[in-house]
Amino acid sequence: MKSIKSKLFISYFFTIFIIIISLCFFSIYFFNQNKQKDNNKLLSTTYIEIEKFLKNNSQNKIKNIDIHIDLQNQFLIIFQNKDIIFSNETLHNTEKILNFLRINKNKEQHHNTHIKDLELNYIKKSINDYQVYLGINERYLNKSLSEIYLVIIISNIVIFFILTILGYLLINKTINPLKQILNELKVLQNNDDLSKRLKENKTNDEFEQLINSLNKMLENIENSVKNIKQFTSDASHELKTPLTVIQGHIDLCKKENVSKEELVKTLNQIDLEQKKLQEIIKAFLLLSRIDKEGTKNKNASLDKILFECIEVNLLYLEEKNLKLEFDIQEDLEINFDEKYLQIVINNLLLNAIKYTKKGFVFIEAKRVNKKVVLKIQDSGIGIEEKNQSKIFERFYRVDKARTDMKDGIGLGLAIVKKICDRYNCKIVLESKVQKGSTFSLIFS
Ligand code: ADP
Repeated sequence: MKSIKSKLFISYFFTIFIIIISLCFFSIYFFNQNKQKDNNKLLSTTYIEIEKFLKNNSQNKIKNIDIHIDLQNQFLIIFQNKDIIFSNETLHNTEKILNFLRINKNKEQHHNTHIKDLELNYIKKSINDYQVYLGINERYLNKSLSEIYLVIIISNIVIFFILTILGYLLINKTINPLKQILNELKVLQNNDDLSKRLKENKTNDEFEQLINSLNKMLENIENSVKNIKQFTSDASHELKTPLTVIQGHIDLCKKENVSKEELVKTLNQIDLEQKKLQEIIKAFLLLSRIDKEGTKNKNASLDKILFECIEVNLLYLEEKNLKLEFDIQEDLEINFDEKYLQIVINNLLLNAIKYTKKGFVFIEAKRVNKKVVLKIQDSGIGIEEKNQSKIFERFYRVDKARTDMKDGIGLGLAIVKKICDRYNCKIVLESKVQKGSTFSLIFS
């Protein structure tokens, strides 16, 4: 497996390599272009000086023309009537140049050409009865030229190495936090302790975000595992209690001298406990169904569902002699699944009746600032402030002795909370002991 570091480094290496090679070629190319221009300029200025000199001086003086005119890096051959009267080149080079010039007899003005090891850039012209051959023997320059090329290439190689080392260090520094995260994750992977977190890194970049996200994820996993453990232990306890009661009643029935009335009473107790068991299992199934189904984009009519729920609980209200008041606006369409909305309202209404001995239950549903708000208020026993956040936990019941209602399994509000969270519906609880409670739902 190739590491990100080596992949980054290889791409960086090749990019730098290509840039440096191109830089070498371009600098040599531009240097050559400029050199050509400079040579032509040099030739032209020297030529003007020679022309002036030839027009104004005698043949004797012309023989020493190189004393008066700077011919550095240039060759000058002057003919008069086919005789060479001046050449600053060696005999051998003069021969070579002349051989070449014979071949290009008809050409005049500027020429750039190559003869064997001689590169010429020259001007061939006649001034009075003199024939002038002025040129630049590139060979003079070749030595310094190759030195310049060498400097360009060496400096580029040095830059290449410096950039490669700097790039490697930079990539190393950038990738290091990722390596550190991976190492820490490997340690966590082999550790059963879910409370462990990655070390925070204040780099203010994506690595810091990654560490924060991973820590948040670890926290969620820890909470989920805690919840599952808590739920499993609570569930087994809640299931065990009615089963133990049932077992006790069955043992009682088995006794020989049990009267018929006692038997009927015990069977009724068994029926009550098995109904409780059924209720718990039904609630478990509902909780897992909410998890599985998720949210579906559905529309529900809140006012319609409210009246349906009131109708279902009317008998219970009458039984407890409670006054029902309501203020429900029409056409309250909300984004909710009707089936789940029914469960939520039924649970809240049932609790309001269940935990109220005398007084009223008031239902209000209306649009407030473009949001639909439902309030279910009762004049019941109320909930102490310290318990208010706990009542939404699974199996949490404030105090069974407070109420004469023995039924109830402590899962109703957990289901309400779960469904509301799914549909982004906020639950607000206001409650005062012995004054009553108000559960408000704010639908999004
Ligand atoms: P239960 O099956 O016990 O009613 P819930 O989850 O519905 O379970 O409610 C949890 C606890 O919250 C109840 O046991 C009760 O103590 C308290 N509670 C819920 N609603 C009310 C209410 N309207 N008034 C007073 N206490 C309430």
